[in-house]
Amino acid sequence: MPATNDLGVKRRCLSCAAAFFDLGRTPILCPKCGVDFKVVELPRRYPLSPTGATTPRFNRK
Ligand SMILES: [Zn+2]
Repeated sequence: MPATNDLGVKRRCLSCAAAFFDLGRTPILCPKCGVDFKVVELPRRYPLSPTGATTPRFNRK
């Protein structure tokens, strides 16, 4: 199971075909040739954190 890390998503440069990680940044620039990587974002669903742990506002003193 691939763990998420700070490297971001692995990309392949469309210009020089170098493989690199986008470091989670935008715009994504190829570290080799510096070309702007045009991202076609895939629909990615983030798991929503459960709200069961929230404190009810009316219950505060
Ligand atoms: Zn490149």
